[in-house]
Amino acid sequence: MRNLAVLSVISILLVLLGTRADDEPLQGFSPHSLSAERQWEEKFRTLPSADNQRDYMRRLSAHPHHVGSPYDQDNAKWILSKFKDWGWDAQIETFEVLFPSPKERLLEMIEPTHFAAKLQEPAVALDPTSSQQAEQLPPYNAYSVDGDVTGPLVFVNYGLPKDYEELDRLGVSVKGAIVIARYGNSWRGIKPKVAAEHGAIGCLIYSDPADDGYAADNVFPRGPMRPSDGVQRGSVMDFPSSYPGDPLTPGVGATREAKRLALKDAPSLTKIPVLPISYGDAQPLLTEITGPVAPKDWRGSLPITYHVGPGATKVHLKVSFHWDMKTIYDVIATLPGAEQPDQWVIRGNHHDAWVNGAEDPTSGQVALLEEARALGELVKQGWRPKRTIIYCAWDGEEPMLLGSTEWAEAHDKDLQLHAVAYINSDGNGRGYLTMAGSHSLEHFMNGVIRDIHDPETNLMVWQRLRFHEIAEAKNGEDRKDIRERPDLRMGALGSGSDYTAYIDHLGIASLNLAYGGEDDSGIYHSAYDDFYWYTHFSDTDFVYGRALSQTAGTAVMRLADADLLPFEFTDFADTIRLYLKQLKKLADDEREEAIERNKEIDEGLFAAINDPHRSKIAPPREDVPPHLNFAPLDNASDALGLSAQRYQAAVEKVWGLSLSQLTLQALNQKLMESERRLTAQEGLLRRPWYKHMIYAPGVYTGYAAMTVPGVREAIEQKHWDEANSEIVRVSAVLDKETAVINSVIQDINSK
Ligand SMILES: [Zn+2]
Repeated sequence: MRNLAVLSVISILLVLLGTRADDEPLQGFSPHSLSAERQWEEKFRTLPSADNQRDYMRRLSAHPHHVGSPYDQDNAKWILSKFKDWGWDAQIETFEVLFPSPKERLLEMIEPTHFAAKLQEPAVALDPTSSQQAEQLPPYNAYSVDGDVTGPLVFVNYGLPKDYEELDRLGVSVKGAIVIARYGNSWRGIKPKVAAEHGAIGCLIYSDPADDGYAADNVFPRGPMRPSDGVQRGSVMDFPSSYPGDPLTPGVGATREAKRLALKDAPSLTKIPVLPISYGDAQPLLTEITGPVAPKDWRGSLPITYHVGPGATKVHLKVSFHWDMKTIYDVIATLPGAEQPDQWVIRGNHHDAWVNGAEDPTSGQVALLEEARALGELVKQGWRPKRTIIYCAWDGEEPMLLGSTEWAEAHDKDLQLHAVAYINSDGNGRGYLTMAGSHSLEHFMNGVIRDIHDPETNLMVWQRLRFHEIAEAKNGEDRKDIRERPDLRMGALGSGSDYTAYIDHLGIASLNLAYGGEDDSGIYHSAYDDFYWYTHFSDTDFVYGRALSQTAGTAVMRLADADLLPFEFTDFADTIRLYLKQLKKLADDEREEAIERNKEIDEGLFAAINDPHRSKIAPPREDVPPHLNFAPLDNASDALGLSAQRYQAAVEKVWGLSLSQLTLQALNQKLMESERRLTAQEGLLRRPWYKHMIYAPGVYTGYAAMTVPGVREAIEQKHWDEANSEIVRVSAVLDKETAVINSVIQDINSK
């Protein structure tokens, strides 16, 4: 009794500490292979070095290394030589892609006064690489069309659809105008897209100091935030409504001989010219705008009164580009699997940057390189991964996922047959782990981070993250969910990094990992994202770089070595239940809002509360949405939940059955393909490149995930018949998923 009590105290302590005993079961490993795996993993986690990561970063970020630059190719060759030194079978795979770079950039105010925008980021004396202007791409937005436009200027806040609803009520139209939008709250390419849909002829995007400038902290070089001339470069390719990757070769690898669209037919270019500017350049323009004062939550931190316009302010915007083909260099390195060489575990991070890119992407790339060195070292010591491991240093991520997408499209058939999972990172920082991905790997990732030490607290990463999530939770219900749920929830993948083609197009279970959250940063996609900035204001001693290596590397090893692939479906089923609840609430909210709004119009509320000095137009009447038929999804979700539980029960007894290698291999094949069942060959409506029916980037959010996208976007866009038919399509893929789980259960139970 006493001993039992002591034991249970010990196990409670172990749970609290988040650590595990050596013989504690490890998801996917038989009792026979368990301790060897634990020992190899322990060995692995001692190997990644923070100092090496610092050295690699100094080397990789020493010069600007955007697509088409000499140092981009030089870095690829250097990365290749490292992989080879570490015993990997490595090569460079090239693609030919459309990559526009600026020919002409002009922005001037011509009324009521004259002002010419600077459009340059000056060198900073303390920061040695900021003076490499001859090698830098100047600030611009890639895949903006050429244009020469003159018009009144209108301030549109973040430039999202709801901002235009507010403009309608203020009686302000952007037809024939050039809009100026703030960076933030959506992916940048949404801003010109929505502006063009409302009739604007040009789009400026500026970084307001409220969002990543002096309102948050000191500006660079005194602090980490954006200085007044700092500009966020970036792609504005309309990939959410078409496809990412090379605009001229949708669905196929951009090899030299690939069939290409004509430039005029490429659907992913913007409709109007776009240019990003600093708040130094934006302030004189915004100061002159007249018209209604901007609504309270539109106002940023510039020392001016924000007006919406239009007024007497007229601007002239001219941009043109060299529409060149460039070669991109993906470095692909392989460790062959000893037992299942045809099952591939893939890990990637890009190597190209907008400028010197120390944080984005080099901080992630150096962690990946230390994993590769450490795995190579284990092989020298006798470790043989069961499955093949493929490490990828992608080129061309910044223009819009070019290297990862083209490689995925070029090898689509093989990847669909052989890929177990894809693990991505895209930069790193100091703080908490952010993990997002396929929910059939949620339980698996929770297991991984119970074995990783947080460098600052020496708690386990899982435990620190859990406390962080409790502290950040919005209400008691969320706190209760975190405290009571055995696993921490994982976010869903939207887009914005190299996992996109793997999860959204090919249906490969994917993960995206990064540490961060303790440091603010205002140098994103600017010339000041460099070695000086990173080693003064981010993970300065690279201990979180080491933690990222340990986290991603442990996940890779576990997936590569597991006897039974560690997919698990109760967390996935629970997540689907949650999404279903959200969809029902969304539909109810839309209905109630329409009813309430129409009632207010009928009552005469808007006329009664109108301030004649600041007159606002009443919103239009809305059709009241019908009730949707969620029954097919309810049924599919229930069936999935039941199967997930039965699978868990079957797996618990699996090691007592002494399954043959052949049987295990057959089970793994089915598990590996389970994520593929969540895709539909015909894809999402109006964007067939996107095949996953549960995760996609939002057409009007960009990077942010749109879960159950067919249904959710139909509700948001008030396409009620479409919402009902999409419910049926999503139910069908969930039924396919349930069927594959059931077939695995049957295989196990029949032994
Ligand atoms: Zn990046």
